[in-house]
Amino acid sequence: MTTRPSEEGTMTTLPAAHDVFHLYDTTLRDGAQQEGLRLTVQDKLRIARLLDELGVGFIEGGWPGANPNDTAFFAAAASGELKLENAKLTAFGSTRRVGGRASSDPLTRALLDAQTEVICLVAKSHDEHVHRALKTDLAENLAMVTDTVKFLTGEGRRVFLDCEHFFDGYRANPGYALAVVKTAADAGAEVVVLCDTNGGMLPAWMGEVVSAAGAVGVDLGIHCHNDTGCAVANTLAAVDAGAMHVQGTMNGHGERTGNADLITVAANLQLKYGWPVMPAANLARATSVSQAVAAITHVAPNARQPYVGQSAFAHKAGLHASAIRVDANLYQHTDPKLVGNDMRMLVSDMAGRANIQIKGDELGFDLSDRDVAARITDVVKQREMDGYSYESADASFELLVRDEIGQLDKQFEVLKWRVLTSDEVSDEGDSEATVKVTVGEQTTARVGEGFGPLNALDKALRSALKKSHPQVEGFELTDYRVRILESAHGTDAITRVLIDTTDGRRRWTTVGVGTNVVEASWEALHDAYQWGLIAR
Ligand SMILES: [Zn+2]
Repeated sequence: MTTRPSEEGTMTTLPAAHDVFHLYDTTLRDGAQQEGLRLTVQDKLRIARLLDELGVGFIEGGWPGANPNDTAFFAAAASGELKLENAKLTAFGSTRRVGGRASSDPLTRALLDAQTEVICLVAKSHDEHVHRALKTDLAENLAMVTDTVKFLTGEGRRVFLDCEHFFDGYRANPGYALAVVKTAADAGAEVVVLCDTNGGMLPAWMGEVVSAAGAVGVDLGIHCHNDTGCAVANTLAAVDAGAMHVQGTMNGHGERTGNADLITVAANLQLKYGWPVMPAANLARATSVSQAVAAITHVAPNARQPYVGQSAFAHKAGLHASAIRVDANLYQHTDPKLVGNDMRMLVSDMAGRANIQIKGDELGFDLSDRDVAARITDVVKQREMDGYSYESADASFELLVRDEIGQLDKQFEVLKWRVLTSDEVSDEGDSEATVKVTVGEQTTARVGEGFGPLNALDKALRSALKKSHPQVEGFELTDYRVRILESAHGTDAITRVLIDTTDGRRRWTTVGVGTNVVEASWEALHDAYQWGLIAR
């Protein structure tokens, strides 16, 4: 990685973008530091496959030797459970212990045992951290860098070196921070990565520091945290100053406020700078990869995430809607298809007929008839007054449209439902539901037990439908949101429930409204099953 890609985006002159510019993902190591996030070995393998499919150059898998789960992950990867097409798996670890030798340090040996072509070491570069955290002198820290880098390169590994707390260290003692960079480069580190470990930097401050490090004469990388809300901006500023290796995580996972979101960084470099950091076809998978990672980490996707969020290309205002019909590009900064996302029209009580018509097109219904569109608009407005919200509940909206245009082919009819919750908790839960449905001529009643009324109703309905519609076994409720709304009539509040469901291939959202949470949940659940069984 010695040449900088042309800023005109001349893709053909670059043999392979990865050789020139490194996209380095650390979701599995630094991202996994996020509060509440826990990844099993299988989770890590699944995420690594997705990252490879996305086309990142490097996947930092964890810290072998320091963390048993990570050791097991590298062992599984080495045994053939992980076959990577694009990316190089990378093991992370620290420089050797104070006063020891890299060749006999068990943690350094564990890095070799991980059997990766690339190793990323972390070293102290802030003098105070050397004194107070390592409890050694500045010269020994440099010796640790030299010894560890030389030993691992001598064993045939490519070595990158993360300078921990580099930016704070540079402010405190620039000469020492730069000495760490030079020492790593002299010892044979291929890339020296400047880390804003505490995340306190601002874009305007990056250029000077990165340029100073660049004057050492080594390929630089950048690793930013988002504590000032500037992780992506700081990363780009470092790239502007010469960094050719960017570290980040999927969906910006990471401790505290997270790391730089690697998808946002990559999309900016590719679509705004015109640098081919990954094949165009790969970037078009960004949205699906982001969603798949969210499903594995069990961290709900951020709808407002740049490029890949559900709302990233969503439009609400009625005034915009008519113009969008003329030319969508007037209202979006880039083509959502390039990152695998879609423009969405939000159906809301602000909606005019134009919104409803575009939304209809989006869902595959011809609502060009003005009377039909006007009728649906009226129904939506009335429903929204009652507390419904169709903005994100596309599936419920589609059922409403189908009903209005006479294309609602209901897959089941509910004759009766009931749920009881008590303080008696068994292994099966604290709630018991009964659901009676008719499919064709057949009537089925089933009981389901679960934790909470929704879970019990879900089990009962699934059980009642699985004979006639076996695909319900694959339905999974992935998110459940309850909101209590002020009633227009004063004292009694109404409850709105949104349910996200997936069948592994599609993800859909339904809405229910009621005077209590159970009634609202049932409606959203009913719609979720109805849509999942109807829609192609
Ligand atoms: Zn970090």
